[in-house]
Amino acid sequence: MIITALICNAQDCLAIYLPPGDTCTDTVERAARRLGWTRRTAFSHACPACSTGNGPVRERGECLACTGSTVDARDGMACRYCRTVTPHPTDHR
Ligand SMILES: [Zn+2]
Ligand SMILES: [Zn+2]
Repeated sequence: MIITALICNAQDCLAIYLPPGDTCTDTVERAARRLGWTRRTAFSHACPACSTGNGPVRERGECLACTGSTVDARDGMACRYCRTVTPHPTDHR
């Protein structure tokens, strides 16, 4: 089993995309792209934050797309970097 994590190759960026454990490399790439990751070169990637000019990610947090730190928003946790909103778990209240 191959687990591939994508890291952002922008300078000083801490973003990382960790796929669910049983994902093969092809799927990782596709899943990451759906979250906003882009390919910089054949071997390097840019996270959603850097791709949209909001990077680099300097603080790690709960963002599922880029692992950036999040702030509480009405609909969930909003990433401070890539603006992805991760909904609050519904079975949580
Ligand atoms: Zn980045
Ligand atoms: Zn993010």
